[in-house]
Amino acid sequence: MATVSKVSKRPQPGLEPEYCKGCNRCVEACVHGCIAPGQEINPLTGLMPVALHLDECNGCGLCVDACPEPWGLRVPDPTPPRPRAVPADLAPERQPLGEGKPLILKGAHASAIGALLAGCRHFFGYPITPSTEGAELMARLLPQLDGHFVQAVSEVAAVNMMYGCGGAGLPSMTFTSSPGLSLMLEGVSYMIGAEVPGVIVDVMRGGPGLGGIGPEQSDIKLLCRGLGHGGTHAIVLAPATPQEMLDFTQLAFALAFEYRNPVMIAADGYLGQMTGKVLLPPAAVKPGLPAWSVHGDAAHRGNLINSFHLAEADLEAHNRHLQAKYLMMIKAEQRADLYRCQDADVLLVACNTPARMAKGAVRALRDEGIAAGLFRPQTLWPFPIKALKPLLREVRQIVVVEASDGQLEDELRLALSHAGVGEGIELRHLRRMGGVLPSQREIVDAVRAAVKRRALA
Ligand code: SF4
Ligand code: SF4
Repeated sequence: MATVSKVSKRPQPGLEPEYCKGCNRCVEACVHGCIAPGQEINPLTGLMPVALHLDECNGCGLCVDACPEPWGLRVPDPTPPRPRAVPADLAPERQPLGEGKPLILKGAHASAIGALLAGCRHFFGYPITPSTEGAELMARLLPQLDGHFVQAVSEVAAVNMMYGCGGAGLPSMTFTSSPGLSLMLEGVSYMIGAEVPGVIVDVMRGGPGLGGIGPEQSDIKLLCRGLGHGGTHAIVLAPATPQEMLDFTQLAFALAFEYRNPVMIAADGYLGQMTGKVLLPPAAVKPGLPAWSVHGDAAHRGNLINSFHLAEADLEAHNRHLQAKYLMMIKAEQRADLYRCQDADVLLVACNTPARMAKGAVRALRDEGIAAGLFRPQTLWPFPIKALKPLLREVRQIVVVEASDGQLEDELRLALSHAGVGEGIELRHLRRMGGVLPSQREIVDAVRAAVKRRALA
């Protein structure tokens, strides 16, 4: 209901506190001092709306003009309010691609093309070797596709731009590498807390610190167990070929929107640079627009994206909601590739580029009569324990092959322990670090030695 000013006939402004961002522009606009900066946080928004004291207000409307929020401060409309438009999900559309010839692509380029085919038209990033080629291709292609490429001032800025873009319901991505990922983690926690989708391709390099620019699987622990503060998880896809760099990136966007959560792609430096044959998928995707998005139009105006819950009970309920979502991911999104596993009594467990050497090792070991197989997790979180479990009836030994200090092995041990399986199976490993990948010969030697030790035991 409009209140008319005592000093003029013009109506006085009204405030909808839940739409006030507390920017205080209206405070500065009012020469009569009728508006004071807020003193109390609004529990619905986590922001401090201003307070109106309208005794001296002459209804000049300058504060309303100054307010950037169309629903924040406004002159009440004497006509009855129209019902607010209810947003509806606009579903993504599949657009068939003609049958094409295979392309020869670098892993990082394949990932960029996967993003474009998933409908991503927003890239925010900060260059870092060995991921920069992916960003470079996006910089070249996005302007031609009516898209936006922003080289941010830092990784922290880039991930927060993704937060905003994902909050508006639009697919966005970044390429980064290990030190860059460390910087992004606060923003990733915010995205998970606020349930904002986005895709982060981490082309892992050696650490700790700046480490080196050679390939390592140095971020598995961070990606699976340490995505920023709070109870956070995201699906972590682990490609092993340029083809999977494309396919998994396209898949990552679908999963990010399905679960309203960031999706991480764990690639390694070698995979980012490696060229290989890549087939384009049968269809590209034209993104939809989710009903929950803060898209800036009338229908979505009432939506709010926020990771702030001041009341303890609300935050606990939100955490329970997120954990239920993680459980759905654990049930539905485990992925693994099995190579000659069915009759294996020695199982190699490896992902990313080391899995390619391990595959060669399996062939060599089979040639000399050792029943080896390769179990390759394609999701590191959730770990694909469902596919591993049935193999454990035959398996006597597991050898984890990785380019890290045991981060994949830790994930395997946790998965075995949570599933209550694996007792009595000998667990060994071959680890290289610092940009050195395990070679096929080293793997064969490690398995031979393990088999020999067991025969002598
Ligand atoms: S309408 Fe004018 S006088 Fe009234 S609060 Fe706004 S700026 Fe101040
Ligand atoms: S200008 Fe609008 S959003 Fe900013 S403090 Fe005033 S009412 Fe709130």
